[in-house]
Amino acid sequence: MLSSARSRQNAFAALELDRASELRERPDWLVEHAQSAQARFVLLDPDGKALLSADHGHLLQPGCDACAPWLGAAPSFLGRAGATDHYALALDVDAAARVAAETGGAFADLRSAGASLPAFDAGLFAYARGLAHWQRHTRFCPACAAPLALEAGGHRAKCTNPHCGIAQFPRTDPAIIVIVSDGARCLLGRGPQWPQRRYSTLAGFVEPGETLEDAVRREVFEEAGVRVGECDYHSSQPWPFPASIMLGFTARADDATITLGAELAEARWFGADELVDGIRGGTLGVSSPLSVSYRLIEHWLRETAAIELADVVASAAKAKG
Ligand SMILES: [Zn+2]
Repeated sequence: MLSSARSRQNAFAALELDRASELRERPDWLVEHAQSAQARFVLLDPDGKALLSADHGHLLQPGCDACAPWLGAAPSFLGRAGATDHYALALDVDAAARVAAETGGAFADLRSAGASLPAFDAGLFAYARGLAHWQRHTRFCPACAAPLALEAGGHRAKCTNPHCGIAQFPRTDPAIIVIVSDGARCLLGRGPQWPQRRYSTLAGFVEPGETLEDAVRREVFEEAGVRVGECDYHSSQPWPFPASIMLGFTARADDATITLGAELAEARWFGADELVDGIRGGTLGVSSPLSVSYRLIEHWLRETAAIELADVVASAAKAKG
């Protein structure tokens, strides 16, 4: 399977949207179309929660009539899908409460609602959430401290000081996440704040001057003291909590000796049987299917033992009743 197909299976990563970035430079077009019948608005509250249907089954995207009281604040242009132009509109607490009451919807977080949304809605929510977070936290010029003004449909923030005028762009922080194998076993870790017996693949931010492969090797060594040889890209996933992209890797350990670093409470090798028995018996938990960690464990289990993680998780849920 190609990495593009694997990425599409990740949560928030199957957004079929034309971002139409050329239209961002046409402010008159954006204003006019935000007030047309084909405009739909992803509404976000100050916590980055979006307006969903009451059952959290889909995004509620009202049109310009319902959003008229708040269209004075320029909405951000997300892109076009079919005949619909999608925008994001950030609301304050009072406006969010009023919209929820008027539409019968509810504001919910992407982490809790992501799994129940259709792929398009989950991807659009992730996109809008990431953009809105950047806009809220990028208010002043990092060079001269003058206020910034949003332009380009919300995708650029320009310094208002005429002697400066530099532009800021939405920020995305790359993070690698990796399943390391020594052949028969995979390496998983547990963070100090996590529940007992809950394990995940190792992950960390990419640093300046580093390739993704260098970041994989450094993180695995820092966290578990394990030396990684070959590593290979698996898939990617937008992860707007608040501003990351997760870059999934598989890797092979040169030496399986573990020396625990400061970041983890525990790091261990698991054989396929041990992993499956632990999940089935309720003594071992893995990350949610929303995460790349789940996809990497799924991939490893499939390749190593021809076992489907979803079947194992389902049988554990059934046993739990
Ligand atoms: Zn400036």
